[in-house]
Amino acid sequence: EFSSRELTESLLARIERHDGDLNSFITVTPEQALAAADAADGARGEAGPLAGVPLALKDIFCTTGVKTSAGSRMLDNFVAPYDATVVEKLKAAGTVSLGKTNMDEFAMGSSNENSFYGPVKNPWDGSAVPGGSSGGSAAAVAAGLVPAAMGTDTGGSIRQPAAFCGITGLKPTYGRVSRYGIIAYASSLDQAGPMARTAEDCARLLGAIAGHDPRDSTSVARGVPDYTEELAAPLSGLKIGLPTEYFGEGLDPDVERAVREAIRVYESLGATVREVSLPHTHYAIPAYYVIAPAEASSNLARYDGVRFGHRCDAPADLTDLYKRSRAEGFGEEVQRRILMGTHTLSEGFFDAYYKKAQQVRRLIRQDFLDAFDEFDVLMGPASPTPAFDLGAKKDPVSMYLQDIYTIAINLAGIPGISVPAGFVGGRPVGLQILGTHFAEARLLNVAHQFQ
Ligand code: GLN
Repeated sequence: EFSSRELTESLLARIERHDGDLNSFITVTPEQALAAADAADGARGEAGPLAGVPLALKDIFCTTGVKTSAGSRMLDNFVAPYDATVVEKLKAAGTVSLGKTNMDEFAMGSSNENSFYGPVKNPWDGSAVPGGSSGGSAAAVAAGLVPAAMGTDTGGSIRQPAAFCGITGLKPTYGRVSRYGIIAYASSLDQAGPMARTAEDCARLLGAIAGHDPRDSTSVARGVPDYTEELAAPLSGLKIGLPTEYFGEGLDPDVERAVREAIRVYESLGATVREVSLPHTHYAIPAYYVIAPAEASSNLARYDGVRFGHRCDAPADLTDLYKRSRAEGFGEEVQRRILMGTHTLSEGFFDAYYKKAQQVRRLIRQDFLDAFDEFDVLMGPASPTPAFDLGAKKDPVSMYLQDIYTIAINLAGIPGISVPAGFVGGRPVGLQILGTHFAEARLLNVAHQFQ
């Protein structure tokens, strides 16, 4: 047995050795980490199961005294005066944060290439992206720099990088985890969750971060079960639905093969498998790319060069201050989203775009609820392809199409987990498992049986 200090020191040395190349961290915090490790070692015996466990936080979680950049030049100088609820809870559980991980700017992206701090390499293949937006968290876990990391998922940002990096990533039900202190992208979709090697590790981490928080009115007042209790429950009789629309055109045949093989394992464990239709799937990407940028344009209005973050040099007047601070502070994709969002929310376009998208969102949610009347879980790929090459997707729409299997889940508010399901051409593939609202224990149970 070794101490948390020894473990922390060895991981810090690994980060030092490998992360110059990988670029999975924006900020490493050795002093704070060693102090937390010593505190955990001192509390031995009375401490919980996570005491002394090292981990990393996506750089979107506010942390007292440590920079929180959201991957943006806008917040390159921002040090929050408080901890996010997730951070507070992880500290209380005795975990040891080694630092803040790289991400797409304001969590907008599917490849981590939109970061002000540069792209992250996929640890399995240095010419591939790690996925995004929680690409740094996924890469850090896959490279063995930390055993676990926290991510956020607005349209796939936990599940898709987990799939690309061959780890396990869980997006909880909307409202399961407090969003307080998490830099907002699209508030009706954002949700934080764990990324780790196994479902068992994710179960422990979810137990630590879930629960009602009076500081987030959308967090749900509902007890937090022990998510490890059901992990070993047998799967015989489990009803698995395969959404027809998740196995259609655009799905890489090798990814399909890997996913279908994984599903056969469940059949051998006694599950039954049948196809089911989610007829509105087709509208998920357009609806999401109206709703998410609309909410983002509102959330990002606060970065005005006055109260937070980047301020331009020598502004001529207030308008000049706003304009130049925002033009300099926000990257290209973020500016594109703000433009889309302000457009769809503007008078004359609101009914045609935003209102319509909200109506479609309702239909997408109903598709899932109907399916869960018949099935315990749904299964499919987390992404239509394995990790693509760095620099391969040049136009924004081809990047948006990447999110085809993850985005509807956020629109519906249901939980989803991506589990490693083999490799295609040396790059990992993820099996995605979906459940109805608050079915996290079930998802973790089903994921665990595969591992
Ligand atoms: N790729 C999606 C987007 O760019 C989802 C990102 C996320 O989940 N944060 O919006």
